[in-house]
Amino acid sequence: MSAQTVENYQPTADLLKDRIIMVTGAGDGIGRAAAKTYAAHGATVILLGRTIKKLEKVYDEIDAAGHPEPLILPLDIEGAGAADYDQVVERIEEDFGRLDGLLHNASRLGDRTPLEYYNPEEWERVMRTNVTGAFLLSQAMIPLLRAAPDASVIFTSSSVGRKGRANWGAYAISKFATEGLMETLADELDDARTAVRVNSLNPGATRTYMRHLAYPAEDPASNPEPDAIMGAYLYLMGPDSKGVTGQQFDAQIKR
Ligand code: NAP
Repeated sequence: MSAQTVENYQPTADLLKDRIIMVTGAGDGIGRAAAKTYAAHGATVILLGRTIKKLEKVYDEIDAAGHPEPLILPLDIEGAGAADYDQVVERIEEDFGRLDGLLHNASRLGDRTPLEYYNPEEWERVMRTNVTGAFLLSQAMIPLLRAAPDASVIFTSSSVGRKGRANWGAYAISKFATEGLMETLADELDDARTAVRVNSLNPGATRTYMRHLAYPAEDPASNPEPDAIMGAYLYLMGPDSKGVTGQQFDAQIKR
């Protein structure tokens, strides 16, 4: 499958008006930018993440800009179990009764080490956060997504989840699994009962803490800020991507 690029999408101001959209890892980096961008286009955003202080800051920024009041849902995806997801479902059911969008964004980078030396405990933590967490959250959200008239799920991939690369360890393999989750869920939800579309998006090199961890010697200014790559995030979340499902996307044109 070859990925499609959406870099220069021009959204309308109220593209996501009245939509309820959950963003995982909403406290920092690309997730923070996506949450603020979705709110700026009219969505009520559910800020899910593990560092409450960061989520509160994003909440305040959205509130100060006069956008719809977000909801903070603290959750450490790595350690969360069925009871935690039940609570998340309960809260969304009570407050909104449906979910129009889900951006799986939170991820753990893990070690940059050859598989020969990869720490098995770190492997578990990466898989738990990036794969099992995304599976459990997706599974929990399916009834709420089915209850929405035009729901979209976006899984965040990476170029190392589409072509294996030395030393990227569990992270790369977790992103291959993310693509598998996306394709499987897209196929399962592609029926007459539901309007839920499911796609994957590779943000490409972006100026964040994770990028700095992965490439400490790189000049951060050589990569765009998260705000600059939001076109594909808006396109896939909004009504213009209706009917598009099971596809791989890139947020940036490869240069
Ligand atoms: P980031 O700045 O490190 O942000 C990652 C976010 O995920 C943070 O908000 C972090 O929370 C959250 N998170 C991590 N573990 C979590 C857990 N167990 N429970 C809940 N939240 C957790 O990274 P980013 O660069 O924005 O990455 C966003 C996505 O893009 C990831 O899926 C990443 O794999 C992907 N990606 C990024 C690049 C790039 O160049 N930046 C390239 C390809 C793919 P805390 O702030 O509390 O730690």
